[in-house]
Amino acid sequence: MTPRPGLPLGRIAGAPVYLSPAWVLIAAVVMLTFGPQVRRLLPSLGAGAYLVALGYAVILAVSVLVHEAAHAMVGRAQGLPAEEVVLTLWGGHTQFRGLHTTPLGSVATALAGPASNLALAGLAWAALGLTEAAGLIDGRGVASLLLQMTVWANVLLAAFNALPGLPLDGGRMVESAVWAATGSRDRGTEAAGWSGRVLALAVPALAVGLPLLRGDAPDLLVAALALWVGLMLWQGAGRAVAVGRRRRLLDDLRQEGPPSPEQRPDAAPTDPTDSAAAHTARPCLPKEHRA
Ligand SMILES: [Zn+2]
Repeated sequence: MTPRPGLPLGRIAGAPVYLSPAWVLIAAVVMLTFGPQVRRLLPSLGAGAYLVALGYAVILAVSVLVHEAAHAMVGRAQGLPAEEVVLTLWGGHTQFRGLHTTPLGSVATALAGPASNLALAGLAWAALGLTEAAGLIDGRGVASLLLQMTVWANVLLAAFNALPGLPLDGGRMVESAVWAATGSRDRGTEAAGWSGRVLALAVPALAVGLPLLRGDAPDLLVAALALWVGLMLWQGAGRAVAVGRRRRLLDDLRQEGPPSPEQRPDAAPTDPTDSAAAHTARPCLPKEHRA
């Protein structure tokens, strides 16, 4: 029996939802990064500032959960049930039982994630404006900070995941565009993997290069985070290139003769980046916000 990938949180669109133990690491990093900042903004909180920073981590997890739930629901509406939703060390993923059959269907499922984050950001922004205008919350208080965090986290989740390269959702759009143009999903997967590799190099290069161009020293935390994100992207993109290439070669072989059972290119995917089966959300540490 396969071990559970984490703490069960319930079900979404029929699929079990798990919280990976590694999420605790993200929560600790967010708490230690933003705790001092919250304390500077609201000195009266004292050590309670770190509890507010922990609230940031919870908001990030809920935002990722909404993102993955949107993937799962749009997939299920197309007759593609999700097998599981997991909140992981650096985001989450939704694993489907099978593959999308059309480029349009794959794009719809991919777009649902970033779109849900934009919707959540809009709701939080409206709630912030309305409650402050009505005098229900203090514009420099904890509730205002948490709502601002919800706006920032969701805008960044949507923007980052829409970048055009696998393993990000935007990569599914590249994959589907090439798939629609060539008739080959596998060529699409390979192309989207290559664009993911370009992104993997661009993210750390920009994080270090942009401050240098302005004559500033790069922020070490931002540079380390960008390098980590770049490494994760590089691994996912490399797997996508390999999967696309392997399936294309197997398809060629299949056209030449019947494949052996282990060569079936339509076997159930076991890797989150294996073709169109998985959708992921990657969190960025949100930008510093100002009260
Ligand atoms: Zn996603």
